[in-house]
Amino acid sequence: MLLLGAAVGCATSSEPTPTAPSEPAAVPSAAGAGVRGGPPPSSPFHAEPSFELEPAPDIPARSVVIISMDTVSAPILALYGGLAQTQNLERLAADGVRFADPATHFPETCLSHWTLMSGVLPEVHGNAPAHAGSRYTGPTMAEIAQRAGFSTGAIIGGVTLQDSACGLSRGFDLYDDQFVLDPTDMRRPAADVTTRAVQWMGRQEGPFLLFVHYFDAHFPYTPPSPWDARYDPDYTGNLDGSDATLRPYRDGERTPSARDVSHIEALYAGEISALDESMAPLLEAIPDQAVVVVTADHGESFGHDYWFNHRGVLWDDVMRVPLVIRGLEHPPGTVVDGPVGLVDVARTVLSAAGLPADRRMAGRDLNRVDPSDRPVPQLAITDPWVGSAWFAARAYPSKIMERPEPAGVVAFDLAADAAETEPLSTVDHAALGGGRAVWNEAVASGADDQVEAPVRSVSEDELGQLEALGYVDPTRNQAPPSRSHSGGRLPGKAPGTRHGPPLGPTPSERRR
Ligand SMILES: [Zn+2]
Repeated sequence: MLLLGAAVGCATSSEPTPTAPSEPAAVPSAAGAGVRGGPPPSSPFHAEPSFELEPAPDIPARSVVIISMDTVSAPILALYGGLAQTQNLERLAADGVRFADPATHFPETCLSHWTLMSGVLPEVHGNAPAHAGSRYTGPTMAEIAQRAGFSTGAIIGGVTLQDSACGLSRGFDLYDDQFVLDPTDMRRPAADVTTRAVQWMGRQEGPFLLFVHYFDAHFPYTPPSPWDARYDPDYTGNLDGSDATLRPYRDGERTPSARDVSHIEALYAGEISALDESMAPLLEAIPDQAVVVVTADHGESFGHDYWFNHRGVLWDDVMRVPLVIRGLEHPPGTVVDGPVGLVDVARTVLSAAGLPADRRMAGRDLNRVDPSDRPVPQLAITDPWVGSAWFAARAYPSKIMERPEPAGVVAFDLAADAAETEPLSTVDHAALGGGRAVWNEAVASGADDQVEAPVRSVSEDELGQLEALGYVDPTRNQAPPSRSHSGGRLPGKAPGTRHGPPLGPTPSERRR
């Protein structure tokens, strides 16, 4: 067994100043449980939840279905002006609300889903992949629903959300995450996920909360026929969507031609259309009165010399995700403009379902707040527990990204330059003033609701699986194994120290 101190993520060089809460070095957010038949490498960590619930809305309880399409970028969807047709999602949007400009806050699976389920920013959870669980004790939607007497179930389609890797099973009566993984496509097939979700839903007699996780759009891009040729039938090049073909590009060793990139995007779009087709029986089986959410944890990068991956950058094709909700108070087919984030989903869904929110939830109730009237910048960070963390503040059309030197700070006018290829000559920090301070304050405010958690260990076998998924960057030197510890501060820049741009006083410093 190896205790991971693996350098992962973006290969941008940097010499950041570690100033923020100490955490174990990043552990890729996936686990080998069920992958090769062996036992899980470690146990998940499940903090005991604490509840500070607000009054519940005075409406009848309604069931909830939350569908996450892992790694689906909004810009690739026809629903958002892109290539991929998703007729079932489009039908849901026609019956409900489509948010025009949603964003993730963290471009990795585990922590992004913790934010989705809890309504607090990802760093509040600590380095959840390293602990195989959140250190935050505030409740998830599942825990609130379970406490209110709802049945709660989750059907998981990818290794990165298996409980032994992420610990997200808190509050679920059923967390169905064990499956045989096909190493060629690294996912539980969507049809299987759908079948299990429909079966579980059919067994419920009272209100329920169901979380469904599809991993089909995640790398590699291997859509079934006819979707493999639907969007680029005339391609005669040598690239396909397999790991074997694309590995040198993902590793930064080669640069694809523009023609090759458009072909790979077409395969990615094909996977998403095929996924949409596979979701149809689930969408049809959901009771009419249920609240339904379809979103994604992050997108995927097809440019900026960062190919076919997501975890190390915050360009718009990674940061922008879809968000469609049926069951809000808006007229059917409403498109809501203005910036929103995954952090807003929990409070919004709980409100629509007649359930109480937790006082500490940072997001807004989008039933009550029009995000175009009171725009709040979208904030995001890449993994802060390795070097080269990025931070972004985005409020269309303004976007600022802080990147470690020598890349530095960069700003864009997205209305004139949606592709983010022409940085503005001057950076108007005031345009998104306070973004970093807001983030810091949110992280600090969550510190009092964190508990200590052990660091999990990862086997060499699991490392191989993670590398295949792109969660270990082989272009970076692997840091030496760190000592197992309980989450306390480690000295200097040893594995376990949070890296990235300065964040100001740490929560522990604030308490002193
Ligand atoms: Zn993901």
